[in-house]
Order: sequence, then structure tokens, then C-alpha cells
Amino acid sequence: MINEQLKNRDLDVLWHPCSQMKDYEQLPLTPVKKGSGVWLEDFEGNKFIDGISSWWVNIFGHANPYINEKIKEQLDTLEHVIIAGFTHEPIINLSERLVKLTPDGLDKCFYADNGSSAVEVALKMSFHAHKNDGKNKPIFVSLTNSYHGETIGALSVGDVELYKDTYEPLLIQSIQTPVPKDMSVEAAKEAAQKFEELCKNRSDEISAIIVEPLIQAAGYMHMYHPHFLELLRDICDRYDVHLIADEVMAGFGRTGKLFACEHANITPDFLVLSKGITGGYLPLSVVLTSNDIYAKFYCDYLEYKAFLHSHSYTGNALACAAANATLDLFEKDDVITQNKAKAAYMMEKLKEFEKLDNVLEIRQTGMVSVVELKGYSSDERIGLKVHQYCLEREVLIRPLGHVVYFMPPYVITYEEIDKMMDTTLEAIKQL
Ligand code: PMP
Repeated sequence: MINEQLKNRDLDVLWHPCSQMKDYEQLPLTPVKKGSGVWLEDFEGNKFIDGISSWWVNIFGHANPYINEKIKEQLDTLEHVIIAGFTHEPIINLSERLVKLTPDGLDKCFYADNGSSAVEVALKMSFHAHKNDGKNKPIFVSLTNSYHGETIGALSVGDVELYKDTYEPLLIQSIQTPVPKDMSVEAAKEAAQKFEELCKNRSDEISAIIVEPLIQAAGYMHMYHPHFLELLRDICDRYDVHLIADEVMAGFGRTGKLFACEHANITPDFLVLSKGITGGYLPLSVVLTSNDIYAKFYCDYLEYKAFLHSHSYTGNALACAAANATLDLFEKDDVITQNKAKAAYMMEKLKEFEKLDNVLEIRQTGMVSVVELKGYSSDERIGLKVHQYCLEREVLIRPLGHVVYFMPPYVITYEEIDKMMDTTLEAIKQL
């Protein structure tokens, strides 16, 4: 009853993201009362395993006692302060830690408050760094099938038609080069060659290439080999093009290492982080870059080379406290090692899906496990059927069309993995 009342009040006044609102005439909107670990609970006591980490942000569970405690401590000290001209301890601690933990050569942290705005920062910084060097490079390159967010700049470098087509007349200049078609080294080489051809012809116009390292998440969880990143690094160096690694989703352990670029042993010119950075508690994002890039903006005020980008909530102290607590948890518990065992367990379970006739492929990178279904048209909204079946059985997953994936918080137990994946297996069998 309370669920129903809240649903009606909500639909009177809210417009939800990534939704055709008319769908809510048929689909249940679930008011969440509370969370604990991987579990969410509604107002009637129904519980759901959060198999998608609440849009890929939550890594240590809901209402994590340690993160809660650290945010409460911060709350009684300082909630927020302007970061132009002022600073605070949590942001300094966090920046020192990020500089230490990220690949060598990333020395400076510039903060924003969500993934898209950090992508905007990286794009603008790249263009501006070249401009401060006396070069005009107005074009960005990204990969086919990529997704980098939905503000105008971030949308411009994405390549998911569903989000982008309508806004085409508004977008900034970008070119898409092919993503490796599969996870093989050959595919990585083939795609890198295409990018090199593009650079040969147009590198004097290109500021940067932006990529989602290893996993194109919103692009149907497409995955590619880390060797592609090594090849990109080399090409970018030779053609004076920046490499932007958008690890908004991939960062903080999701790919099996703390940062996805570590799989290829490369340092991007800009590393973009968000989502898991606060354990999924509060909006925060950061762009890390080199002292070299930073130096291009460092001069007397009247030379007008400064990077004047800002957001009101930049470096929010509560968010930084949550981020520091998140990094503490990575240090305290050997999360990356424990995740390896959990990922291996999930891989074994994926093999059960592979036996089904309607499964085209299974794939996995770190803590992202994917089942791609075959033979369905997008009109069938097959993902929605799987979602609904599972939701009625205490499991929240949110397939991308015909691609079903599991991206749970790292604190998920083996029993909870069983429940999440066995229920989904049944859902797919029922199709
Ligand atoms: N980049 C990537 C790789 C993402 O997955 C996302 C969000 N799904 C974004 C950028 C945008 O982040 P936000 O939704 O916080 O704006």
C-alpha cells in the first residue's frame, strides 16, 4: 500500500532519467526504503539483490558501516566549502592517494561532480593544452559504440545512436574510429591500424582520442584486449594526440585491477574517474593529468592561459570523505584478490548460460559478467522481460537490450551470487 502511494506521488511530480515515462503505466516503480550490503528493501518488506551496483556506482554495499561512520565524522566538521581559493584536508588526502595509486605520471587532480562533467573537463583541458601550445585542434576521436555521458560534449564523443541522434545538430566535432571487434589481439591490432591511418591524415586537427578502457559498458558491455591501449598509447605519442582514459565505470577495481589502464601498463594523458570513487555514496569525479599538461596552463594571469572551468560542488568535503573511506576499504581488505575468486566463480556459472540455445556468447572482464542473447529484435524488449522476471524473485538486474550482465557490489557473497545468477538463468530459460 505504501509502495503504491509513493509510486503515485512520485509520478505526479518526477521525471525519471533514461525512461519513457509512459512505461511506468505498466511497469512497477519500486520505492526503496533502505539498503544493506547488496540488498535493497521496499516499503512492504520486499528485498532485491542490487546486481547492477545501482548504476555501477556501489562497490562496498549499501549503508556500509565504515563509509557511514566516516561520512558522519566529516558531517560534524565541514560539509562543503568553495574550492577556488580554499581547500580542505579530505580533498588533499584524497588527491595524494589518487596520485600514488594511479599509473605513474599522473600528478594533478582536477575535480568535478559526475562522470559527464569530468569528461567535459578532460576534453576542454586537452583542447586548451594544445591551444596554449599555439595549436588549434578542434576535433576529438572516440571509438565506435562508445559512451561517455550525456552532456553535450560528452554526448558528442559517444556513439550510441539511441542517446545521440536527436541532438546531432547541437554536437561538437568528433570522429569515430573502429573499436576492436572482439577480445582478440588481432582485433586490437586491426583497430589500432585504423586509428593510425586517421592520425596520418588528420592529426594536426585532432586534440585527443577518448576511450573506455577494456569495456564499453553502455555499448552493450562490448569488451576488447588491453593490447589495444598499448597500441593507442604509442600512436598518440607519435602523432601529438592526447589519450583520454574514461574509467568512470572501469575504475576502482571493476576490471580486476584498481584501474583498467594497469592491464596495459600505460599512463593516459587524462584519467577520468567517478562512480565507484565514493563507494556509490555521493557525486564526485576527478580528472588526473600530468605535470607536463599542468605546466602549459601555469603562467602570469594576464597571459590568459588558466583553466577556468568550475562546478559549485567541486571537491565536496563529504564526498571526499566517502572517497577516502572507499580507498581505506581497498587497503584494509584485499578486495582485488577476493574479487578474482568471485569472478572465477561467476565465470563457472556463466558456462551454464552458454549451454542455452538462445545464448549467443558469454564474456567477462573482472567483476563484469555478461550473457549476450541471440535472435531477438529490439521491439521484443527482451531485456525488460528478464528484468521483470528477476525483480519478482528478489533480483535487480537491468539488461541492455539483449545483453544481460551482472555487475554487483564487491561485497556480494557466494550465496548471493548463486541467487542472482540462478534466478537470471531461469529467466532466460523461460523466454
Ligand atoms: N563515462 C562512462 C564510461 C560511463 O559509463 C558513464 C555513465 N554510465 C559516464 C561517463 C557518465 O557518467 P555520469 O552518468 O556520472 O554523468
